Amino acid sequence: MHFTAEHDMFRQTVRAVVQSEIDPQVEEWEAAHAFPAHELFPKLARLGLFGLEYDPADGGQGVDHAFTVILGEELGRARCGGVPMAIAVHTDMATPSLARFGTPELKARYLAPAMRGEQVAAVAVTEPDAGSDVAAISTRAARDGDDWVINGSKLYITNGVQADWLCLLVRTGEERGYRGMSQVIFPSATPGFSVSRTLRKLGNHSSDTAELSFVDARVPLANTIGAIGRGFQQQMQQFQNERLIAAYMAVGQCEAAIQRTLDYLRQRVTFGKPLVEHQWIQFHMAELVAEVDLLRHYNYAAAEAIMAGQDATRFATIAKLTAGRLVRKVADTCLQFHGGIGYMDETWTSRFYRDSRLLSIGGGTDEVMLQVLARMDGITALD
Ligand SMILES: Cc1cc2nc3c(=O)[nH]c(=O)nc-3n(C[C@H](O)[C@H](O)[C@H](O)COP(=O)(O)OP(=O)(O)OC[C@H]3O[C@@H](n4cnc5c(N)ncnc54)[C@H](O)[C@@H]3O)c2cc1C
Repeated sequence: MHFTAEHDMFRQTVRAVVQSEIDPQVEEWEAAHAFPAHELFPKLARLGLFGLEYDPADGGQGVDHAFTVILGEELGRARCGGVPMAIAVHTDMATPSLARFGTPELKARYLAPAMRGEQVAAVAVTEPDAGSDVAAISTRAARDGDDWVINGSKLYITNGVQADWLCLLVRTGEERGYRGMSQVIFPSATPGFSVSRTLRKLGNHSSDTAELSFVDARVPLANTIGAIGRGFQQQMQQFQNERLIAAYMAVGQCEAAIQRTLDYLRQRVTFGKPLVEHQWIQFHMAELVAEVDLLRHYNYAAAEAIMAGQDATRFATIAKLTAGRLVRKVADTCLQFHGGIGYMDETWTSRFYRDSRLLSIGGGTDEVMLQVLARMDGITALD
């Protein structure tokens, strides 16, 4: 993976933006269980963080995927998991399908303003009775003239309270399973839509998470992204972007946590010497450094596959699985080596421990990653 001077400058920009626009507000936003997306996103857009790979004609910047790697790694260094995740939902989880398959009109109306930070996006797939098994969703869009009439509900939707529009996966045909689904841009101002619950959660307090309800909510057929009936396949492709940015962010999270822990281990003395001088601790920290390095270079291989125009499904699956497990291990070890102060809310380790738990669940659980990999690699009874 070759980073140019331009990439390095972008890294410095994102790092500075995280330090100036996110980190100083983290305590306030975590306590409020929300951050003001409509204030933060226009700033981030002006500073060049949005629409990296999208076509300039659609409001993007037309740069390569290495910029997305950098964005993820640097967002991961923020002092909380919630805001970076909400940003990544906007940039890499809710908008790729629209950029890839949307009509010019749909992109002008929704993608370009989102990339200017004027509109906030969310992706709505999960339902009360369908999470891992996406093919089991039941929210339905029935055709009525030139409109879809939508009924159903979505659960655990990040940015769900603040979003101006959703990239919504709905059932539009009579077929069962993965057939007969479509992706629709759903403006949250549509009558019949409501936030039925704002959810409290273990971590990522600064991002809002909601249950959403749709009762005879009408949107134009023209809001369909791509082909009617191809929603499942398009969403599966969109999940690759989601899983990769999550893995890129994990590297930044782990690196920052290891660095902060080493700072502490150098100044905390037990048994007459700094903690970092105890070999048990040195070896554990060195092991974490090695594992993060492996993930970083695996991510870079994934990014190179993307840049070469290859299918990166296997890379994204393994990277997401590994990242979810590693970030939990790093969070647990960093907390442990802080001792009692590590368990206190006043110390960053306690939030990191809570926030880190999500990565093995959101965007497809560890078990779903293993299921995808087992299928891809033919690890089944039949050969
Ligand atoms: C904070 C947060 C934010 C989220 N944000 C969004 C969002 O913005 N948009 C969105 O659409 N969704 C979002 N999600 C939902 C998330 O993607 C789902 O929670 C996840 O996919 C798991 O689905 P589930 O919760 O229904 O678990 P279930 O599917 O009920 O699974 C329960 C457990 O069983 C395991 N399991 C399931 N099937 C199998 C199997 N065949 N073999 C072995 N084990 C299995 C799972 O891995 C899991 O451990 C979010 C979730 C959280 C917690």
